[in-house]
Amino acid sequence: MILDGKKIKNDLLENFKEKIKTEKLYIKLAIILVGNNEASKIYIKNKEKACDYVGIKVEKYLLEENITENDLLKLIDKLNNDTNTTGIILQSPIPSHLDFDKCSNYIQASKDVDGFTKENIYKLYLGKKTILPCTVKGIIKLLEIYNIPIEGSNAVIVGRGNIVGHPLSLALLNKNATVTVAHSKTKNLKNITRNADILISATGKPHLIQKDYVKKDAVVIDVGVSRVNGKIVGDIDFREIVDIASFITPNPGGIGPMTVAMIIDNLIEMEERKRKVENKNINFAHDKNRQ
Ligand code: NAP
Repeated sequence: MILDGKKIKNDLLENFKEKIKTEKLYIKLAIILVGNNEASKIYIKNKEKACDYVGIKVEKYLLEENITENDLLKLIDKLNNDTNTTGIILQSPIPSHLDFDKCSNYIQASKDVDGFTKENIYKLYLGKKTILPCTVKGIIKLLEIYNIPIEGSNAVIVGRGNIVGHPLSLALLNKNATVTVAHSKTKNLKNITRNADILISATGKPHLIQKDYVKKDAVVIDVGVSRVNGKIVGDIDFREIVDIASFITPNPGGIGPMTVAMIIDNLIEMEERKRKVENKNINFAHDKNRQ
């Protein structure tokens, strides 16, 4: 069965749109792009389109390639302090004279849509409620929507990158999967992937995962994105594996759309949390006035 990320994204966006309208949520996303990376512009367009559709306002900050780190941090500071800005995305990559870790970590944790600040990653490490990185959240959401059990499963992740593999290993562990993480130095990769009930590949190596890497009826999730002769190719050899797997994501059309949907999901969660805090403060002030 195909794990249809594109359809699920569209269904989720309908629900988000309805929720934002009926609950009168005012949500604003600030997206910062430094320089002229063409791929980044496409990613931003997709995010903007989804936000527009559900009724989230997007404010773009297109900064010159040669901006100083100090000026970038000043802008992030301003957005952190703007009560009308719900969430902030610093689009990666940024030019090499800027330290991405430092700058993205400057985003206030409660506005960190991508879930990459130290505070949010540390909460993930501790197994506490946090803002999950969107791709990680999208993978888990897709499994949950298709009622695929995570608890007790043998989950094998290929790739230990900071954006997908590494945080995903923590998130799946928190959901009680037995997690194995493979990487470029792993020996006999296929002996490991063949044990997977859930196999997730996030390497960016085209068709790394072949037919003989997959156990019959495994759930196979393809996160990797590469371009071969101008075409998007995933880590998984879909055509060879579709008949072996019980569930499989297409690529494109699987995890990419889920990632976009989870940006909206995170923003709604943030706005709801902000409202809770504001209501608590109002009640507190009210109680104090009555004393
Ligand atoms: P990354 O930081 O570059 O990590 C890639 C990982 O793959 C590394 O851990 C590397 O191992 C491992 N690897 C490379 N060659 C391998 C091999 N032959 N066998 C086993 N492992 C191998 O990448 P990332 O940022 O995590 O992203 C991973 C992929 O997901 C990329 O293709 C990216 O474009 C894609 N992605 C897709 C979405 C989406 O929405 N669909 C979102 C984010 C990322 P070492 O650590 O040993 O070097």
